[in-house]
Amino acid sequence: MTEMVRKITLSRAVRIMRNLFPEEYNFYPRSWILPDEFQLFAAQVQMVKDGDPSWKPTFIVKPDGGCQGDGIYLIKDPSDIRLAGTLQSRPAVVQEYICKPLLIDKLKFDIRLYVLLKSLDPLEIYIAKDGLSRFCTEPYQEPNSRNLHHVFMHLTNYSLNVHSSNFIHSDNASTGSKRTFSSILCRLSSKGVDIKKVWSDIISLVIKTVIALTPELKVFYQSDIPTGRPGPTCFQILGFDILLMKNLKPMLLEVNANPSMRIEHEHELSPGVFENVPSLVDEEVKVAVIRDTLRLMDPLRKKRESQSQQLEKASVEKEDPLDSELAGVPDTNPEAQLPSICLKQVFPKYAKQFNYLRLVDRMANLFIRFLGIKGTMKLGPTGFRTFIRNCRLSSSSLSMAAVDILYIDITRRWSSMTLDQRDSGMCLQAFIEAFFFLAQRKFKMLPLHEQVASLIDLCEYHLSLLDEKRLVCGRSGTVGGRSPPHLPHQDTCPPPCANGADKFSHPRPTVP
Ligand code: ADP
Repeated sequence: MTEMVRKITLSRAVRIMRNLFPEEYNFYPRSWILPDEFQLFAAQVQMVKDGDPSWKPTFIVKPDGGCQGDGIYLIKDPSDIRLAGTLQSRPAVVQEYICKPLLIDKLKFDIRLYVLLKSLDPLEIYIAKDGLSRFCTEPYQEPNSRNLHHVFMHLTNYSLNVHSSNFIHSDNASTGSKRTFSSILCRLSSKGVDIKKVWSDIISLVIKTVIALTPELKVFYQSDIPTGRPGPTCFQILGFDILLMKNLKPMLLEVNANPSMRIEHEHELSPGVFENVPSLVDEEVKVAVIRDTLRLMDPLRKKRESQSQQLEKASVEKEDPLDSELAGVPDTNPEAQLPSICLKQVFPKYAKQFNYLRLVDRMANLFIRFLGIKGTMKLGPTGFRTFIRNCRLSSSSLSMAAVDILYIDITRRWSSMTLDQRDSGMCLQAFIEAFFFLAQRKFKMLPLHEQVASLIDLCEYHLSLLDEKRLVCGRSGTVGGRSPPHLPHQDTCPPPCANGADKFSHPRPTVP
């Protein structure tokens, strides 16, 4: 998980989804990976500037794997990156800076929301009903050359702002530099804001982000935890950092794999002498998250759950997304004495609305199937050939020699880009790129996500036939009565170019 939420990995994962579903994945600022995409970044910015000379963007540069605002700075022009020397020192992400955040008391703030990934397969996601809002300590102004370096104005990190003389430690959840998110929602609601809509946008952002992260996570998981044996029960509490824009649209800033669970802060008694003081706001939010996580992961819970589900069925489900699914359910077990459940299940609860987005997940399943030796995360040339053969993807216009060239070309390019050099072969991202390429040439006339979905259907169909064949092996007769998936317009095109099609060769999104 730590690998998955690094800034570069997250940006790549969201970008793949954005290429497939541009409308659904516009909640993450457009990002470029440095140093690899510096030229692309500079060229795209220049292109938009040429078209609109009044466009004066700001970008934020964040070192990969950094945290607590470490090494982050704002720039107005791509050339400023070179001046700062980041290119040489550390890989980083540069992304559009959200210039118009929602302000409260003239201050920028962000939201830390806790999300429990209870299980990967089947996917189970819970969201905490309350989170933290962390405030800047200097009144916000849109970025200009004079205030670009004012960290207390632009960065909401607690670890930075706590050093400001303006930082207010408050025991009240609705004042001070750290407040509960529910207190912010209350305030917005009193101003007439539709907070149900804000909340459901946040839920959808969380589910979509997890959907973007799980494919590669599954590859990591299978390499560590062998199948067929009862494995450990893994779960993870994630910290989502979200910024609300002035128009109330939530934007994802980053995901933390190890969010701080501290419920106290340091108080300086005299110069250099500190004592730990309980922080009631942290306590209110975090204790509930930990308690509910333990309760949900409790192995004995299943028994009680089935009882409570029966009761739940009897109760009328409320529409308000903030309502806990279990709230209001009369409970006879001793846990009923505890405050109401704070973690709300959102997946599979809303699976129907989001399952169509899980295309990369299905590609990852194919990838894992052909990995071969357990413990690896990269596909060898034989595995890739077997994938092509078993899924019947080669044809007169795609020879096995062309398949080998495709493999070598894409694998080599990704190997030079990825940080993980542990073993050689085709990583999941390279496989996805190859898959996009194959889908594009086979189903030319369709939009990208339909091309990909059609190819996945086709692969799954041939593999299921193969599985059936293996099952009935020894028995006589033909294989099942299955019919192939509906195949839209198929087309052929010349074999893959040796220099490799441009990554995701459909039109790249441009800077808005
Ligand atoms: P870190 O892991 O170092 O905390 P973040 O990605 O969370 O890095 O960024 C630190 C802070 O910078 C955020 O809390 C937020 O206040 C601000 N920030 C980050 N990205 C953006 C952005 N694209 N637009 C506006 N502010 C941002």
